Amino acid sequence: MQPVSDSESAGAEMHRSIMIAFCDVLRATKLPPMEVMSLAASALGAIYKEVADQHRSDGGCPCGWKPDLHADVEALQAALAATIRAIPPADLRAMQAVGRA
Ligand SMILES: [Zn+2]
Repeated sequence: MQPVSDSESAGAEMHRSIMIAFCDVLRATKLPPMEVMSLAASALGAIYKEVADQHRSDGGCPCGWKPDLHADVEALQAALAATIRAIPPADLRAMQAVGRA
């Protein structure tokens, strides 16, 4: 993996990684896309909880982040909804590119 220099390329890298995982699970399980989407959302929730738990214990992490479950979940939901509305349909190419890989 190349080092990422800003939040845009970090976002692109995260997009690519999750798309690959999504397509793998879709192919392997033959579940409907929306069920696989829900699994991805649940996995993100589990990752949030694991990282947040690490930041609640004393000396867990020096970065200073203080998890706020209510505000954080609201921020994640808002990011999800805003992105779905913002991405043009042409972005389906990302999925087709992964499908060919
Ligand atoms: Zn931290």
